Amino acid sequence: MKTSELLLNDANLIAISADEKGHIKYVSAAVEKISGYKTENLLGDLWWENTYCNKKDGLAFKQNVIKILSNKSPINGKVYERRMLCKDGSCRWIEWRDSLGANNNFVSVGVDISDWKKKEEHKIQSEAILKNIPSIVLVSNKNGEIIFVSPSIEKILGYTANEVLGRNWWQKVFLSKNKAEDAKEAINNYIFSNKGSYLDIFKQKLKTKEGLDKWIEWQYSKGVNDTYISIGSDITDRILQDFELKKAKEAAEESVQVKNEFLANMSHEIRTPLNAVIGFTDLLLETTLTTEQRQHLETMHTSGEILLTLINNVLDLSKLESNKFEIEKTSFNLKRTLNEVVKLMRVKAQEKGISLDLIINSNTPSEVVSDSNRISQILLNLIGNAIKFTDKGGVTITVVKIEENDKIATISFEIKDTGIGIVSNKINSVFGAFTQAKNDTSRIYGGTGLGLTIVKKLINLLNGEIKVESVFGKGSTFTMVLPLKIGEKNSSKINAEKSKEEVNDKNLGYSILLVEDNKTNQLLAKTRLQRWNCTVDIADNGFEGVKKTQQQLYDIIMMDIQMPVMDGYEATKIIKNDISEEVSKIPIIAMTAFTSKTEIKRALEAGMDDYIFKPFKPDELFKILKKYGDHPKIIEPTMKNEVKRSYKHINLEFLEKETLNESTVLVLLIELFFKDLKAYMQLLDEKVKLKKWQDLYKETHKIKPSISMFGITKLEPIVFSLEQKFKEEIDLEDVDSLVKKGKSIIVNVKKELKIELKSLRE
Ligand code: ADP
Repeated sequence: MKTSELLLNDANLIAISADEKGHIKYVSAAVEKISGYKTENLLGDLWWENTYCNKKDGLAFKQNVIKILSNKSPINGKVYERRMLCKDGSCRWIEWRDSLGANNNFVSVGVDISDWKKKEEHKIQSEAILKNIPSIVLVSNKNGEIIFVSPSIEKILGYTANEVLGRNWWQKVFLSKNKAEDAKEAINNYIFSNKGSYLDIFKQKLKTKEGLDKWIEWQYSKGVNDTYISIGSDITDRILQDFELKKAKEAAEESVQVKNEFLANMSHEIRTPLNAVIGFTDLLLETTLTTEQRQHLETMHTSGEILLTLINNVLDLSKLESNKFEIEKTSFNLKRTLNEVVKLMRVKAQEKGISLDLIINSNTPSEVVSDSNRISQILLNLIGNAIKFTDKGGVTITVVKIEENDKIATISFEIKDTGIGIVSNKINSVFGAFTQAKNDTSRIYGGTGLGLTIVKKLINLLNGEIKVESVFGKGSTFTMVLPLKIGEKNSSKINAEKSKEEVNDKNLGYSILLVEDNKTNQLLAKTRLQRWNCTVDIADNGFEGVKKTQQQLYDIIMMDIQMPVMDGYEATKIIKNDISEEVSKIPIIAMTAFTSKTEIKRALEAGMDDYIFKPFKPDELFKILKKYGDHPKIIEPTMKNEVKRSYKHINLEFLEKETLNESTVLVLLIELFFKDLKAYMQLLDEKVKLKKWQDLYKETHKIKPSISMFGITKLEPIVFSLEQKFKEEIDLEDVDSLVKKGKSIIVNVKKELKIELKSLRE
């Protein structure tokens, strides 16, 4: 074998030569390694047929070779690339160069460049990916230097990759130096020391070259040689969208809140005069009346009650719709609640001459844990409707436990009537707001179509279900199924019976302070309370109320919440904390027109002892007064004038002893002290200005014993210190601040002495 041939083989060089007819006469041995064909299988025309991916191209090239060799076409001596088809069907890239051999042969030499080509393609593809992916790819080393940035950064942050390499990244894209340092440290800790949380580093707010804010969400992974790779996606749009959504949600919530507040205020505004209408009607009904007057008044009373129910319904519905309705979970006696509800409804059934029966299956648990008020509200509604829409026959309520699991009883409450029934095509819509089964229902039976809407929503809140079956003209059956937790037995029965007994005893005889700004309400409550032999003092607002409690020790304070000058919360706080121990013990009952829990919670937090809703039912008012009026009093009312008040700034014990509690002498002493105090204060102002220190010393020395006598302990150190300074004329720069402090104490001293004077004179 010739040396050149050996070389061709070792170097994997392909060489072929063709004669003037285009037939391949020679193929180097390397071709076998590259293409898989034995060289003899490529000689002649087989070369053109076998090694060309497109056979037509092969034969065309052969024709060109013939032309070149017959001098009809020039040879192209340039390097070109052509894929060579291999025996196994794969293609390899070969770089070719054609030339004319010594014996006028056509010679083509090729080098296999497939591997290089692959790498090159790979590189081009990676670059295209890195340029076009919608993410930033960073590679950083342990020192926090960025050693690679994908070109895609330009699209996202506006910087070219080169601009942010090394430490530039941290200096340029972060909002502040501190933020950059914190982020660098947190990422390093997370990647290299497994410290901290991904949550701390997964989102960053960065700034673009233009100075705009962009939110980037990162994924981190370890790279080679102590590096890490961060891939960041631009989530600015998502964040802005979330922000917009949040804003929209807040706006929607705010408008619901506004609607809710509007309804609450409206209901308050309507209830206040309604309170007067119902209350005065109540009072008038207790007087001697002609039959006609009584009938008119009773109609007025019923109309007032209906209006009140409507307002309450609208308020309930708005609360239910804005998810503001709170459900209580307390243990109560279900059987007793059912009996009470039926008892309330019995009057209505009797008026209509229909029967009302309650059947409680013996398997029904007595004590359950749920919201008894809401359950009563639902039942009152359903039974109320059944009675309303039934003219003959009656209503039967059947209560039965249908299942028990894990101390949860599933109880069915069936309210069946023999009334007018509901037409089948309306049956599904009776639970919708303001829907009535027939257009003339409101005219004939009244109502607004809100009751069942509220019932359904309440039942949902209690995790129960309701369904209705009805035959038009025959009657309807509403069935509510509630899961109720079975509770422990308690002794509430005894209390219930006791309170019933007390309501009948209508002589209370308490001294009551009524703090209420509305004149009608004042008159109404006063008239009602006087009927029960209570003495009533009226304060027009919280401030007046506070003043009155400083003068008299009442048995009970009834406090409106919303009042001008000072509201009920503020007044309560002062009465409960700032007057005296005895006064702080007076029970305060909030009178509120709101049924909102937050309102009540606020009232109780302010220190009120209980609350009653306006318009109050006489029985409820009586019960609550009875409950609080009989609290063990610290001092009997008859001894009120001898009450020893606990003042905060004065202590009259010494003087009382000295004067043997002789009020006239005490009055005289206090009056004298007032005069002395006034003169001293005037002198203080004048002489300090003139720097007449010795005059000041004499006067201060003179007033000193009175300060001690009246037990003004807070003023004592100030007066002693002033006396010293004036006498020795030292540290006089402190005089002004001492005088200021003293004056603020004297203001309170005067207030308390005035209260004492008033009570002594009385
Ligand atoms: P309201 O009774 O105030 O009109 P509800 O929401 O309680 O409103 O009831 C909606 C409607 O469903 C009623 O107007 C009536 O047409 C129908 N309905 C409710 N209960 C009964 C019943 N027991 N018998 C017949 N119709 C009923």
